[in-house]
Amino acid sequence: MYTCGPTVYDYAHIGNFRAFLFEDLLKRWLIQRGFKVTHVMNLTDVDDKTIKGSQKQQMPLKQFTDFYTKAFFEDIKALNIQSADIYPRATEHIPEMVALIKTLMAKGYAYRGEDGSIYYAISKFPDYGKLSKIKTAELKTGARVSQDEYAKEEAQDFALWKAWVPEDGDVYWETELGKGRPGWHIECSAMSMKYLGETFDIHCGGVDNIFPHHENEIAQSEAATGKKFVDYWLHNEFLLVEGKRMAKRFGNFFTLRDLLAKGYDSNAIRYLLSSTHYRQQFNFTFEGLESAKGAVERLRNFVRRLHDVDGGKDSKGKVATLVAKLEACFGGSMDNDLDIGTALASLFDFVREINNLLDANEVSKQEAADAGGLMMRIDEVLGVIGKVEVEEALPADINALVQKREEAREAKNWKEADAIRTQLKQMGIVLEDTAQGVRWHKEKA
Ligand code: AMP
Ligand code: ZN
Repeated sequence: MYTCGPTVYDYAHIGNFRAFLFEDLLKRWLIQRGFKVTHVMNLTDVDDKTIKGSQKQQMPLKQFTDFYTKAFFEDIKALNIQSADIYPRATEHIPEMVALIKTLMAKGYAYRGEDGSIYYAISKFPDYGKLSKIKTAELKTGARVSQDEYAKEEAQDFALWKAWVPEDGDVYWETELGKGRPGWHIECSAMSMKYLGETFDIHCGGVDNIFPHHENEIAQSEAATGKKFVDYWLHNEFLLVEGKRMAKRFGNFFTLRDLLAKGYDSNAIRYLLSSTHYRQQFNFTFEGLESAKGAVERLRNFVRRLHDVDGGKDSKGKVATLVAKLEACFGGSMDNDLDIGTALASLFDFVREINNLLDANEVSKQEAADAGGLMMRIDEVLGVIGKVEVEEALPADINALVQKREEAREAKNWKEADAIRTQLKQMGIVLEDTAQGVRWHKEKA
């Protein structure tokens, strides 16, 4: 699978991460279902935006894009996004792009304009518009566009190779095509086919990539090879803020760093951004983030509780039935175009039902291990629970407080018991009163 990666001209915002998290979920699910996945994600380190950004910072392009590339890798690690197998950088694949453009020229799909740039003649490719469903009859043939991004209504011949202009400064390559730089679209055609072959299985990106980026990728690749480029296109919908697409240019965005600095947990952010179906828009809100935090905590507490089971009666097959039911529902939902909403609903039903059995002390150690095993497999896909710390010996001062609270509770001195609970919370220790007695865990920072 090939997923259009970040344009490394700034910190990615959480709308961008919605795209990368959808792709991560898709990939993790394919792997769980036994597919061998080769994942390529490019880094757009030369295009209109990176050149402008580096000039504004008065920094060489490479130094500028390296900075944001590093930040991107830090962010995907924080969000527990699994690494791609290959992260090709556009600037390191200029020869492949030049070769592809030469093929297109030789086959009559590309021509040089008076400005010295090389354009793709969309009228030469009868299938132009098949992905974004634009009507080719309405196209202005012969009109040209040289910027990387433009609207559907402005569909026209687009730049494959941009001849150097003074505004490009020192960003250019001397090639057989002349002095210049590649257009954005040819970058992805060249890099995807280099690593995945002329026809590959899956190509992803946000819906804004459908036109012109992916439409142009198809035109370039299929004209050059004469073969089908991609079998499955999957596009995620936008993350919104108050009904409007989250985007740099609207100024309505949050970076991951913004949210981490406010004290939000990266697992909650991951959960929030991946728990709505990828083809549905949704609004980012802080209430949503709080409830995502609650959902992750519920899952984590549940797994911890399963770890703690020691003894307990047998459920007489009830746990096994619930495990089988969750496996079938979760898997069936995810197989159905990644229906994460239904998959999560079945997961929380399972948590509630097993919790009821745990309250009744009706779960044996083996059954708890079976339920915990399924939770681990599911978390290989969700990636939000992680390693749950099991109880360790309490430091003496904390232990003394827990004991004191137990005594207060026995004496029905609820006020004092609550005060101690609050004091412990301030120390990062969370208490839970369970059927098996008081349990504690460290609150995640
Ligand atoms: P860019 O760095 O601009 O090339 O974008 C990286 C990815 O984020 C692309 O797949 C975009 O389609 C996607 N994207 C951009 N804005 C949003 C948004 N508000 N919601 C979801 N995905 C987005
Ligand atoms: Zn791309």
